[in-house]
Amino acid sequence: MSPISQLYDDIWTNEVALDEYNVRGVLVVGDQRALVWDTLSHPRDMAGYAPLVGERELLVVYSHADWDHIWGTAGLPRAASAIVGHSSCRARFADDVSVTLQERRLAEPETWDAVTLVAPTTTFDNEMVLSLGTMTIHLRHLPGHTPDSIVGFIPARGVLLMGDAAETPFPVVPAGSSLDHWIGELERWERDPRVRTVVPAHGVVGGTDILARNIDYLTRLRDGRPIDVGEPLTDFYLKTHESNLRAR
Ligand SMILES: [Zn+2]
Repeated sequence: MSPISQLYDDIWTNEVALDEYNVRGVLVVGDQRALVWDTLSHPRDMAGYAPLVGERELLVVYSHADWDHIWGTAGLPRAASAIVGHSSCRARFADDVSVTLQERRLAEPETWDAVTLVAPTTTFDNEMVLSLGTMTIHLRHLPGHTPDSIVGFIPARGVLLMGDAAETPFPVVPAGSSLDHWIGELERWERDPRVRTVVPAHGVVGGTDILARNIDYLTRLRDGRPIDVGEPLTDFYLKTHESNLRAR
């Protein structure tokens, strides 16, 4: 079965399985440009995009610089005219991004040979609007999961691309992140009446209930209140919940 499925006339999701969890990228095809939201974990993850992109100019956006969102760039159907990310996303390419790839190549020789690291060519700090022709996508910084995390909103479709700023069953929280700011930004999007569909990189696609669920989890974590995770968890999310609790 193809990992690519159609969400709207001009928006596709691309969900691939990794060892411990799945990761989802998105392709948005405008009348003039196509936009790849995250290139995922391996160049082969981009294999199905060529016929959908056609002859359009290609833009790439990285939701953040974690490996499972950026390692597929060498597999794009054509070179991107711009790769867009937060300014601290670009900074990570000179820091932890290449270290992680070296470690994985040592642990699993040959598996990652095809990966080429390509840093953002265009960066922003708070907000940026990209035009795909008649359709636009609004990028906004939403740090918390990582300092470089961003979200992307497509007003014409009411679609909010979360990266790892929200996921199901709950997000991965590093030690020392500002939960107040993270929660405040999620609440801002939850209140925005334009948002109809919420697309996290990990977990299910849904409505603003996904934002509410992440706000509840993060608020309880911040306040030291009991958290009912509510469903049987995979080993990955069992470990993540324990480390989230330790991170506070
Ligand atoms: Zn991720």
